[in-house]
Amino acid sequence: MKRSIVVLAAVALVLVGIAGSALAESPAGMRLYAFSSGALTVAKNFLQAGGPPTQIQIPVGFFVVRHPRGNVIFDTGNNDRILTDPGYWGDFVKALNPVRTPDIAIDVQLGKIGLKPDDIKYVVIGHMHLDHGGNIAKFPNSTLVVQKDEIRNAFWPEPGTACCYVPGDFMFLRTPPGAMMPNDPKWKVFQLEGDIDLFADNSVVVKRWVGHTPGSQMLIVRLPKSGTIVLTSDNVYYKENVEKNLLPDVSLAYSPKGILGSYDFIREMQARENANYFTAHDPDAWKTMKHAPEYWE
Ligand SMILES: [Zn+2]
Repeated sequence: MKRSIVVLAAVALVLVGIAGSALAESPAGMRLYAFSSGALTVAKNFLQAGGPPTQIQIPVGFFVVRHPRGNVIFDTGNNDRILTDPGYWGDFVKALNPVRTPDIAIDVQLGKIGLKPDDIKYVVIGHMHLDHGGNIAKFPNSTLVVQKDEIRNAFWPEPGTACCYVPGDFMFLRTPPGAMMPNDPKWKVFQLEGDIDLFADNSVVVKRWVGHTPGSQMLIVRLPKSGTIVLTSDNVYYKENVEKNLLPDVSLAYSPKGILGSYDFIREMQARENANYFTAHDPDAWKTMKHAPEYWE
């Protein structure tokens, strides 16, 4: 009898330990900011299959998490080079008509909260398309966190998946022809094959989620007051896509099953943690969001 009580107590302690680690306290002082890298113009049915073919302007958002142990940027927007050299994007400039005002330069945006690119510890890229991985080059002193499948696909895309990578956005990660080794050792790159809890406290978790591209990832941010917010990158274009299980155009859906699975994951996170989620391009959701220097904490 006594022994079974001891065993039960031990089991209970283990269970409390598991629950405790799953609900680890997010540190005070954590904040989440949303920034603008301008806007693009696309046909709505490109981002929502079955939607109207009308041209709409969509925001290009990116995010920063301030954490006591380092700042994290999630996505980096359009390459600032197009502000002065639109030819850098080739035909994409005409096709996407990006906003090119100087206020959207990434340095200016980060400056709204007193940060410089060198203040960023981790650059987490949801995927490496031109409106997400555009400004990686601005962070030579940070660690790039990307799925191995994504970085490989950016350099050598699978058939049908070459849009919308701009090689100049990441070619500097390689050494010039004739060098001894192919990767430039100046750049610190974490090539993941799964998830990572960046600060080992459950507050900023990179979540591999192959959907929009072969190596897409999302970011789960658990804030001390605002709770859990999932940053979806382009696994989700519109909140309506999640609510009605709508896919984007096939050219933006590397894995339709993966995209629908990401919608299920969001519903699960809503049920389990009362989570919210932010996308990069939903015009209506963007209007209702706080923008830096305002923040969630
Ligand atoms: Zn995008």
